[in-house]
Formats: sequence, C-alpha cells, structure tokens
Amino acid sequence: MSTEAEIAVAVSKMKYDVNRIREDFPILKKKVHNKNLVYLDNAATTQKPTYVIDKVNKYYTSMNANIHRGVHALSQEATEEFESARIQIKQFINALGKNEIIFTRGTTEAINLVANSYGRKNINEGDEIIISNMEHHSNIVPWQMLCEEKKSKLRIIPINDDGELIVEQFEKLINERTKFISLVYVSNSLGTINPVKKIIDYAHQFKIPVMLDAAQAVNHIKVDVQKLNCDFLAFSGHKIYGPTGIGALYGKVELLETMPPYQGGGDMISKVTFEKTTYNELPHKFEAGTPDIAGAIGLGAAIEYVNKTGIENIKEHETSLLEYATKQIAEVPGLKIIGNAKEKTSVLSFVLDNIHPHDIGTFLDFEGVAIRTGHHCTQPLMQRFKIPATSRASFAMYNTKEEVDILIQGLKKIIEVFGK
Ligand code: PMP
Repeated sequence: MSTEAEIAVAVSKMKYDVNRIREDFPILKKKVHNKNLVYLDNAATTQKPTYVIDKVNKYYTSMNANIHRGVHALSQEATEEFESARIQIKQFINALGKNEIIFTRGTTEAINLVANSYGRKNINEGDEIIISNMEHHSNIVPWQMLCEEKKSKLRIIPINDDGELIVEQFEKLINERTKFISLVYVSNSLGTINPVKKIIDYAHQFKIPVMLDAAQAVNHIKVDVQKLNCDFLAFSGHKIYGPTGIGALYGKVELLETMPPYQGGGDMISKVTFEKTTYNELPHKFEAGTPDIAGAIGLGAAIEYVNKTGIENIKEHETSLLEYATKQIAEVPGLKIIGNAKEKTSVLSFVLDNIHPHDIGTFLDFEGVAIRTGHHCTQPLMQRFKIPATSRASFAMYNTKEEVDILIQGLKKIIEVFGK
C-alpha cells in the first residue's frame, strides 16, 4: 500500500519534464552574444519562474500597502499574503510554528541576527565558536566580529582533500568552552553535503546549539528542521527561485524567546515610552521596520512552485545532471575537479592547467555560457586548496544535459585557444 505522499511524489515524477519547466522561466529564452543563454550560475542566484514574477507584480498592481498596522482592505490583503508566505516557509522546512520563522534580507542577515542577538547575550570571554573550513564569508565574518568583541575564539573544523568535513577532528574540537556551532549544510564552492545531523546530535550531547547555513540546501534537498533538530537555520529567497533581498531565519521558539531584538524600530515593539520599551511577540520582535513585502510574497510563491515540482524530483534531476557533467568533464585534458565528496549536489568547481578561471569565465560568456569564477566568498577554502580561484558551474531544476555538452565543448575550445 502506498501512502498519499508516495502517490503524490510518483505522480509529480511522471510530470517532470525539463523542457516544460524551462517554459516557466522567461529569461532562459534570452540570447547572449547571439548564442542561447546557458545559465550555470545558479549557486550565485537562480532564475525566477513567471509564477513568482506574476505574484510580485500582482502585489504592486493590486494590493500595495504597508502591513500589520492598517485597518483598510489593501493593508489587510497585503498582511494576509505576507503572513501566508510565512506559513509556506514554516511548512516547507517543517518548523513547529510560524512564530519560528523570521523574515530577513537573506542568509547573511539571518546569521548576523543570531550572532548579534544570541551571540552577544551568550558568548563570553574565553568561549569558543566552531565553524568549518568551507564556510561562506557570511558564516565566518559575523562570528569573527563577535569573537573580537567578546575576546572569544573561532575554532575551525578541517576538511580532507575531497572537500569533506573531518568529523573525528570536529569531535576533538568540542570542550567545555564550546558555546556555539555554525555550519554550512551544502558548500557553495564544492557542492559537499555535510553530515549535519550527525554533528547536531553530537553537539547536543554537550548542550551546544547548532546553526545551519542552508543557503545552498533548501533548493536542492529536503530540509526538515524538526528531523535535523537544528537550533537555527538560514536561507535566501533568491537561491530558491524567489526574489533577492528576502530570506528567512528559523529558530527554535524557546531560544528565540530568550533572545534580545536585533534591531529597534517600528513593528518590533509592544509599547514605547521615553522611559521604557516593551517588545512585540515572536516573530515580530525580530522584524523591525517595513519588510520587503513583495519579496516575501514572491518567496512564498517560489516555495509553492518548488513544492509543485517536488523537491525530491528536483534533487533526482540535478543529481543525474551532476553525475553526467562530472563524467563528461573528466575528458577535458588538464582539468581538475575541486570537491569530490561522496555526498554532493549541483556544484561542479574546477581548475584548468595554466588557464586562469577569469579567462575561462570570459571565454565561456562569449559562448552564451554563464558560470562563476573567483573565490566564491570562500577565501579560506581556496587557501586550503592552495588556489586563488575556481571556475564553478552550478545546476538548477531547469538545466539540461545539452547545456552540459555546450559547457564541455566550450572548455575544449578554450584549451585549443589558450593551450597553444
Ligand atoms: N551561505 C552560502 C553557502 C551561500 O552560498 C551564500 C550566497 N552565495 C550565502 C551564505 C549568502 O547568501 P546571501 O548573499 O543571499 O545572504
């Protein structure tokens, strides 16, 4: 007997048709330098389906008003849409309550919020915070700033040559001074899927809270905060087919309740006098000022779109693309893949003998292929591999094997031109 959920997955799988999905993304029809656009820079940001664009458009054309404070119809309509986007997010990551979902500008702001609020309250001189060698700068710098202020110490989980965390080393880093762990779920530079559940379970034995940077996870794999039992989790709307400038922080309600506000202003208060201010309840306590209302509604729509396609189907499609691309790219002479983790998704980083990544990126652009080159905001990771930069192709639900072939042909051409 199949469950309803299994049937739903089976039905949506039958419908997974990449060419049909591509029709939903108008930008994919664009020509670049007279070539068909091959967009392989999805780890930087994803393209947006018409469904999301229309929702944002609809907000501005038919319900633009400020939220929460208005009694008039438009304000109530906008508030309803904004709050239903919060519920979409809550369901998507399986949070316990919608008051555990805080809208932020994105992953970066969510991490800064936790560092400034939870961190400044709970981290003291001599304490230690653990991150890893593969963090994005946005999961390094806020903790570094906190450590500087509090005279505490950042400890780093090392990685092996395949780009996997060395879990035994992580366990050795834990001691009575360890007060917080913040870890990337999926690496934006390597594609490694970290064994975060294992790390969380281990850390919780010592009552150490764990935050996950899920910027590159929620768009590729099923994320369930209750199953993971993480304490905080951050992601950005624009990497999951939603607008830029909007994202979310998930926090366990019992932790959020104890934390002071991050910013002061409108909407986050319950009562203000010149003598004293009391704060609003969750999640509004952490949402000072007018938020990106259209962005939140767009993010809600993006999640609806992903749900309709099915995150498991997306994962399967992207995994098969990554496997295909990894096999094909191995035939390019002088190419070395950076990041060969056993658990990996959607990112293919590489270097080519004697050809600078920027030259690769520029050359491919003339072929219509958009990839990213550089340090990908992970300079300590580049230092670990003793390279200044990589070229990175990253896949999304709408990419095809034909596009991978165009990338590979482009790389072979580069070798012909530059290799001589
Ligand atoms: N963490 C990871 C793993 C990322 O890939 C990114 C974006 N490249 C960020 C954090 C920061 O996200 P944002 O710029 O949307 O805040």
